[in-house]
Amino acid sequence: MVGRKGRRVLFMALPLEGHLNPMLQLAQILHSNGFSITIIHTTFNSPNPSKYPNFTFSCIQDALSPTQFSDLLSFLVELNVKCVEPFKECVGKLLRSDEAAEEPVACLISDAMCHFTQGVADNLKLPRIVLRTSGVSSFVAFAAYPLFRERGYISTQQQVDCNLEEEVEELAPLRVKDLPLIKTEEPEKYYELLGKFLKETKGSLGVIWNSFEGLESGALRKVSKEFSIPMFPIGPLHKYFPSSASCSSLISQDQSCIAWLDTKPPNSVVYVSFGSLAAITETEFLEIAWGLANSKHPFLWVVREGLMKESEWVEALPSGFVESLEGRGLIVKWAPQQEVLAHSAVGAFWTHSGWNSTLESICEGVPMICMPFFTDQKVNARYVSHVWRVGLQLEDRGEIERIIGRLMDGNDEAKEIRDRALKLKEEAKVCLQQGGSSCSSLEALLTYILSFDSFTFQPS
Ligand code: UDP
Repeated sequence: MVGRKGRRVLFMALPLEGHLNPMLQLAQILHSNGFSITIIHTTFNSPNPSKYPNFTFSCIQDALSPTQFSDLLSFLVELNVKCVEPFKECVGKLLRSDEAAEEPVACLISDAMCHFTQGVADNLKLPRIVLRTSGVSSFVAFAAYPLFRERGYISTQQQVDCNLEEEVEELAPLRVKDLPLIKTEEPEKYYELLGKFLKETKGSLGVIWNSFEGLESGALRKVSKEFSIPMFPIGPLHKYFPSSASCSSLISQDQSCIAWLDTKPPNSVVYVSFGSLAAITETEFLEIAWGLANSKHPFLWVVREGLMKESEWVEALPSGFVESLEGRGLIVKWAPQQEVLAHSAVGAFWTHSGWNSTLESICEGVPMICMPFFTDQKVNARYVSHVWRVGLQLEDRGEIERIIGRLMDGNDEAKEIRDRALKLKEEAKVCLQQGGSSCSSLEALLTYILSFDSFTFQPS
């Protein structure tokens, strides 16, 4: 552990699994580099402070309730309205506190989707840096949204008046269908959110990326050109510490699947998970179940509670389905994903292409079958299959068995994909070593944070 710096960093987290985890990992990295940490969080999906005895936690009364979480877009819009006042009050108090007098606050690091924090930080003259928890390539696509709106690629999600398969020249190899959209009846609401998110990212003092130079150098060059603020690609964040220390999952993880994986030969198991937000219908659930069963490959499938709107968990499976697999398939509610992906038995990851899942798979050299649902997932899937070429995209659920076979049956195509995945895994490892790109970028970030004048509260 490095000597204490006598400076505190405030964090504002977005209360979703895929955002909270990387933010806590970043906080751990800064703490191990001598900074004191205060995590500001909502009552909704609040993290467990007992896992982080060295951090201070400060909860804001956000008035968000789980029932409001019916759709992602409304949730994000609401959060950016309802949190303003309690956040302002909370930061004001923290800045006047004894803790801040002892260790002055250096800056605020906010999730980029919490765009409301820029206004509050400006008012208090508090330096604000953002953490973007998704990839840089998808950010470039988000930033181009005025273009696809102008082109009429989407008027509403139901009314697309152009060819979905057509490539968007400026964002190649993305096709119209790979653009980072969300199913909504209110596209203007989505554009407004994107507009604010981009404006307040541009208005910040820098962006921290959970990515690395070797993976997204082209996209990093593009954003650096367009946003004249410092960029810090310091990822993969989860690889700075052992997986048990870097995982702060909001859902409790079923460890029993590791013992089950221990009984399987190397590279034989398909791990299946669609993350913490994606939802499927019962029909889709059954197509996936039969696709897995008919593939004849062992599988570990995460069916989280709430994955299907119509049922609580796996009641829709025909009776005798699990028994008929004779130990070839295991279904759990939530897995220790980083450990699962690092297990030698896992040969492929059928994923929804969330950024954390994508990066975790890349770090373990596990080839992917991509089935994106919305927003950045579609961009990530296209990059996995057509830029990094470490996986295949499932375009049609009728193809499940065939695509599993293509990746698992040891043909030339599968071998090439696996070789590329192993090469990328090595790059992800090297970038964190002394002199590596992420390691250097982290050093630059630490110096940058220390360069801010310590913030002492000036009552107005
Ligand atoms: N995850 C997990 N156990 C599971 C499934 C997922 O711990 O059974 C973790 C996974 O390791 C990742 C996060 O949940 O860090 C999901 O983030 P991602 O960005 O992939 O998707 P999201 O949930 O945001 O859609």
